[in-house]
Order: sequence, then structure tokens, then C-alpha cells
Amino acid sequence: MKETKSQSDLQQIRTASDRFRLKPIAPDEKFSFSCHPGVSCFNDCCKQIDVLLTPFDVVRIKRKLDIRSDQFLARYSVLQNFKDTDLPLLKLKMGDDESCVFLGEKGCTIYENRPVVCRNYPTGVATKSSTEEAGENSYFIIEEDMCKGHFEKETWTVSEYKKNQGVIELDEQNQPWLEIVARLKSLALKDDQDQKMNVFIMTSYDIDAFRSFVFNSTFLTRFDINNDTVERIKSDDEELLKFGFEWLKFILFNEGPIRPRE
Ligand code: SF4
Ligand code: SF4
Repeated sequence: MKETKSQSDLQQIRTASDRFRLKPIAPDEKFSFSCHPGVSCFNDCCKQIDVLLTPFDVVRIKRKLDIRSDQFLARYSVLQNFKDTDLPLLKLKMGDDESCVFLGEKGCTIYENRPVVCRNYPTGVATKSSTEEAGENSYFIIEEDMCKGHFEKETWTVSEYKKNQGVIELDEQNQPWLEIVARLKSLALKDDQDQKMNVFIMTSYDIDAFRSFVFNSTFLTRFDINNDTVERIKSDDEELLKFGFEWLKFILFNEGPIRPRE
């Protein structure tokens, strides 16, 4: 993975070539871009790339494929500790020909459920880290020589493009998890925290194992969870994931609404 400010801040971008530029863009500024089967580079950018996955990406794709989360993890993804973070993060597997496992002859075979980083491309966001002054996020456009989408006529602001790509709600859903990841990144992890990291991995990426942990262990007798929440998370993966983020706050930082029974 190439080093960029955005990646070091754990904002996720994907690039398929070594030569790319990050062009800052103001919120009300327009950029030209369109990606469709008619562009000469169609599918070229889905090869030899790191596509980081968010928890909501995993839930949506495994549901589309009608498989369990552990099957998704084994077949389609790899965990990788990224430089400077020591955090295990999930990315899509590349096939034998170095193409994304979901790339088909006619393009992305999971297009309706494609990951957030694929939806956001070619936009990116650089957020202020906890050690920097608080302030507004700043946006940029990723320009790669291989990508001919920048020569198309359609123009967008970043927020118009995100809306068009159906990424605004997903960004909101993933935000609590990104904040957890950013906080974890700033901690110096040690060996005795391996167990916490295993909880982070299971809760973030293996939703079916997390459900089994909640409902097939002593969890509900040990923690004070109200009945409405229990009903909500029984069969709804998205609700369970939101609950999982609260669980991570408790287990990692001893914060949030989840508390042991008195
Ligand atoms: S998930 Fe789809 S859009 Fe994203 S890299 Fe793979 S084939 Fe391309
Ligand atoms: S226009 Fe850009 S995003 Fe679309 S297929 Fe070509 S390289 Fe990929």
C-alpha cells in the first residue's frame, strides 16, 4: 500500500498505480469524473490494489453472497497489519491474476454492495488526528494517469459524488468504528493486549461469531442489556454491528453504555 496522508490517518483510499497525485478540493469546488463501461480503462483499477473493508462492507457483501461471515473472511479477505498502526485490518483478496476476487468480465460482480473505498474513489478525505488541532475535514481528488474518468464531462462536488455513489449513509454507519480504529492506532499495543485485538477482529468483521458470543455464552447474564436491544440485535446484522461498536468501546476503553450487571 502506498504511503499517503490519508492512509496514515486511516482514511481509506484505493489506488491501482504507483503514480498518483492527491489534489486538494474545496467543498463547493467541482471536479470532472465519470466511470462506465465505455471508458478505455474500464476494470484496470480493480487489479493489484489494497481494498480495505469496513465492518458494514463485510455484512453487506456476505449477505449478498448468502454466506456466513467466517466463510467470507476465509474465501475473500485477508487480515493485514498496516505499517505504523500494528492494527489488523481487513482487505479484499486478489486472485491469481492479481485482480480483485470480485472483478468479472463485465465489471464488479458485487457492484450494488461494493466496498466504501470503491464507492468513494476518486475522492478522499484527510481528517485531523487527535494530536492535531481540531478542524474541518479536508478533501482531495486522487488523480492516476491510468484513470480516464477525469476526462469525462460530468462534474460533481465531493458531496454530490458521495451522494450519487450511495456512500453518505455508509460513512455515517462506519464513523463510530473509524473513531475506535483511530484511538486504537494511537495506543502502543503490547502482547498482553492480544486478547483485546481478537475481540476487535471478531466484533468488527465476524458478525455471526459475535452473535453467537452474545447469545450462546453467559454474556446476557453478565451484562445489563435491555430487552428492546436484545430483540433488535437477535436477527438484524446492522443493529448487532452498532451494538458491537458499543461493546468495543467497553472492552477496549471501559467506556459507553454497556455495563456489567450489579
Ligand atoms: S469490489 Fe468491485 S469495484 Fe471494488 S475493487 Fe473489487 S471489483 Fe473493483
Ligand atoms: S475510469 Fe477510473 S475508476 Fe473507472 S474503470 Fe477507469 S480507472 Fe477505474
